[in-house]
Parts: sequence; structure tokens; C-alpha cells
Amino acid sequence: MEPVDLIAFGAHPDDVEIGCGGLLMRSIATGYRVGIVDLTRGEMASTGTVAIRREESQKAAEVLGVNWRINLELPDRGITINDESLSKVVRILREARPRLIVAPYWEDRHPDHVACSQLVTEAHFNARLYKYLPELPPHQPRLIYYFLNHYQVEASFIVDISDYFEEKVKAIFCHYSQFGPAPEPTSLNTGAFMGAIRGWNQAWGALIGCTYGEGFYSKEALAIPDPVALLGGGSQAMPVRRNR
Ligand SMILES: [Zn+2]
Repeated sequence: MEPVDLIAFGAHPDDVEIGCGGLLMRSIATGYRVGIVDLTRGEMASTGTVAIRREESQKAAEVLGVNWRINLELPDRGITINDESLSKVVRILREARPRLIVAPYWEDRHPDHVACSQLVTEAHFNARLYKYLPELPPHQPRLIYYFLNHYQVEASFIVDISDYFEEKVKAIFCHYSQFGPAPEPTSLNTGAFMGAIRGWNQAWGALIGCTYGEGFYSKEALAIPDPVALLGGGSQAMPVRRNR
């Protein structure tokens, strides 16, 4: 498996686009190699088929520009943490050796998103154990950033995705069987959900003074080597304002 700097995990083929599509595109533009792992083929969705969803997720991967996208074919609405699922994720981490993992936040209205979060978190831990799958050398990505979906909790940090938001929307709409009009009305295809995605990203953006943002949560404290450089720009970038 081709090594990457970052792997984004999602339970279903459209989760990553919704939760962290902007971060992925921004990371790729910076020069990082990015992979996507979908845990299931989304076969329990009310609309679309496995074959259609496979095609749609590959199209979305091209829009995002990722190095690769794979599907672990775990059962949709049946993701459990067992030897098989855990070893599948650990093998990917040890073969692709990412520095960073992105996964869904562990509280969500969809139980599969919760299970995906737990599975990836456990695999991240096991990936460093010498005696677990000893045929592959241990590798532990430095951190997991959890992307925030339906429940908006306080973010550890927000990434400015203003330059990538419209492309993110295109990537989401590649999943036309889910978001396009269909005889079966679902929570995704009535138009309200796309409005919610725009609204959530605008709300995150407003918190950091840009048009669109994506919020992430880190369980670990984040070290900032240079707090001044974090602000960007040169010494004239943020003049002191005196309102007198
Ligand atoms: Zn999902």
C-alpha cells in the first residue's frame, strides 16, 4: 500500500467528504499525500446500490484529489470491534504509515459513525503494540483529529476551507444517489441537509474570521512550537489598533 501522510476514515462512502473534505483538499494542495478508508459500502442506505455507490465514491475521490481510496467492506449497520475489523484497520495503518488520522467524533446520531470512531481509536492504540500482528512492524500515527458531524461540540481547532468549500460541495454531490432527488425522501436528499452542511461550515468559519471552516477535536493537547507564526503574515500583518 502506497504510504501517505494522512488517512481519513469514514463509516460510509460519503462521510469523509462531509466531515473533512476541505481539510483533505487543503492538505493535498500543501503537498501531503492523503488516503481515504471507507469502512462499509453503504449498502443499507435507502437509495443507491453498492455498485453505484462504489462509482460515486471513486468520482468523489478524483474531485478531492486523494492518492487512494479503499473500502474495507465491513457490514453497514453492523460495524463491530472484533479481531477481524480491528486487524483490518491496524494493517492499513502499518502499511500506509500515516502521520495523522482523521476519524468521526465519537458522539453522533448515526451509530455507525460512533462505531467507526471507536474502531479507529482502538486500532490507533493497537498499531503500536509489538505483540499484536507481529508480522508487520508497529507504527502509531502521532494523533487522531476527530471531525465533527451532526453534533456541534466545541472544536480544538478550526481549519479555514474557504478556498475549497465549493469543490467540497462538488465532491459531496458526486454521491448523487444519496443527495440527488429520489422517489424515497431521506434526511439527505430533500435539500435541507446540504443547507445544513453550508451552515455548519459557515458557522465554523465565522469563529475564525473566514467564510468557511471545518472544526476538529483532538483528545491530546496540541503543541504549538511558534505561537506567533501560527497567526501568519509578517510583522505588519496585525497592526495594533488604538481606538482613541
Ligand atoms: Zn455516514
